[in-house]
Amino acid sequence: MPIIVQKFGGTSVADSQKILAAARKAIRAQQQGNQVVMVVSAMGKNTDVLVDLANEITDAPSAREMDMLLSTGEQVSVALMAMAIHSLGYKAISLTGAQIGIRTDSTHTKARIRSISTERMQKLLSEGNIVIAAGFQGIDENYNITTLGRGGSDTTAVALAAVLGAEACEIYTDVDGIYTTDPRLLPEARRLTQTSYDEMLELASLGAGVMHSRSIEFAKKFSVPIHVRSSFTDIPGTMIVAEGESADQAVGGATLTKDEARVTVFGVPDRPGSSLAIFSRIADRAVSVDMIVQNIGEEGKADITFTVPRDDLRATRHAVEEAVREIGAGGFTCDEGVSKISVVGLGMARQTGVADRMFQALADAGVNIQMISTSEIKISVLVARESALDALRAVHREFKLDVQPESPAVSTAPTQRTSNAVEVVRRLAGMEDLAIDDLTLDETQARITISHVQDKPGVAAAVFRQIAQTDVFVDMIVQGYGRGGQANLSFTVPHQQISRALMDVGKLAKSLDCGAVTSSPRVAKLSVSGIGLRSHTGVAIRMFRSLAEAGINVEMINTSEVRVNVVVAGEHGQKAMECLKQAFADVLL
Ligand code: ADP
Ligand code: ASP
Ligand code: MG
Repeated sequence: MPIIVQKFGGTSVADSQKILAAARKAIRAQQQGNQVVMVVSAMGKNTDVLVDLANEITDAPSAREMDMLLSTGEQVSVALMAMAIHSLGYKAISLTGAQIGIRTDSTHTKARIRSISTERMQKLLSEGNIVIAAGFQGIDENYNITTLGRGGSDTTAVALAAVLGAEACEIYTDVDGIYTTDPRLLPEARRLTQTSYDEMLELASLGAGVMHSRSIEFAKKFSVPIHVRSSFTDIPGTMIVAEGESADQAVGGATLTKDEARVTVFGVPDRPGSSLAIFSRIADRAVSVDMIVQNIGEEGKADITFTVPRDDLRATRHAVEEAVREIGAGGFTCDEGVSKISVVGLGMARQTGVADRMFQALADAGVNIQMISTSEIKISVLVARESALDALRAVHREFKLDVQPESPAVSTAPTQRTSNAVEVVRRLAGMEDLAIDDLTLDETQARITISHVQDKPGVAAAVFRQIAQTDVFVDMIVQGYGRGGQANLSFTVPHQQISRALMDVGKLAKSLDCGAVTSSPRVAKLSVSGIGLRSHTGVAIRMFRSLAEAGINVEMINTSEVRVNVVVAGEHGQKAMECLKQAFADVLL
């Protein structure tokens, strides 16, 4: 009999009537001939209430006790849900994460699932029960209760769907599908009929809070079709499957990550290993770093700037303080008043001129870009928090995200589960372990750097508009925030096109009052691709470590959920590739 997993978020079980309505949905699915597993979140805002209570007692609650506390929210709702189903005359049983056998690691408040036993659930289902699983929780090897991180019930649901071989995972929530951006921020956002795992993975990790990003890692790894829909209406909602809505659309969605913090470590000795010293300490605290930019400064010292979620700033400061002492850097500065705006689209990899359109739209809206980081399917910029909403609106309009694309979806058929999923599980020690599927070396590119980019709207727009007119294909772009408000802007172009690009850029940089333009005619770009690379904080670290040990300096880096790219000096390409092969040998699929 087919299995369906249905997940109900907090607002969908906020009171007894809503619990009964959810119960009826599950019963209906069972009557239609399915075995049904429900995954339920804590009622309404109960998790927030529990967090506030803890914070009233101490501002540094123990992570283990936090998990003990937060897991109670879900325990309440699963019990009530079982009672609701009983009252309607059907069989149901509620189970905590521990009772199901959801084994996790011991990273309290951010635990990762290692394994899930299916025997008990299978037996209960075959006896005609609706199985009701508590979302967002598990148990570690010492029987400590763990939680998967805020919003983690989605991950429980998709993980259960994966191990049970469910037909689909239905996510019932307070919005009727996935929108081009958060509809609470922009009313003009449009509901997508379908979106791809890769885009959703990126959108979710960049702030589209509608799905927990790790749930999409599972969905992609195990080919689980996800159907996001409203608890309160019968609108068809959005399918998250292998392919997106339209093949030739450059941008499929935009996000605003509101609460970011920027950290700049200055006066860093420019030698291999400096970055590693900083980022490994941050990774040890399970904080994920984004938008890493290194500016080569004067006297062989560099400035390294990156962003972290604002909530993680305290842990990050401790890590950076230690690193600064160890490597003898000058010091560091932080800015908590920044937000990140990103656009995501699979079509970007095949089209030019996406970045310059985004930068121009921001310039026209008077928004100053503090940092830039691009990857194959995503462009992120850092802006002051007070201009973030204007920035999101400008970008959403520029890419016409409110308009239904003309070309139809590539395929509307749900993803077929492949035997690949079984193969993946067999090879991984833990279900959420890092899995790398490719390592590549690209030796065809050159790097251009414009120093002392003025801190005012419109500079990036002018540079990339000019380059777009000459048909030069720009690949990676990074702009960092330097001390004194001046930044370096670096990007890569095909090395045959470098002289053409340099001619234009040189003139332009002068007219824009920027500093010197430098270039390197041969650089090597190394890429690691896989799933959930950014949330696995160790990927960039492994790259930094293996390259540092070989004495190779990383000149540029960008990260996305599906790929991490680093640029090193051209002559180091082959050697760097060997290093990475060794560094990732144990997780290469
Ligand atoms: P649940 O409690 O059901 O898990 P969440 O609050 O976690 O619900 O997620 C639903 C919310 O996600 C919506 O109310 C919406 O404001 C927000 N959201 C953010 N980005 C998007 C997006 N791109 N599409 C739809 N909703 C989004
Ligand atoms: N109740 C948890 C939270 O609010 C998990 C979830 O709802 O997904 O974060
Ligand atoms: Mg949620």
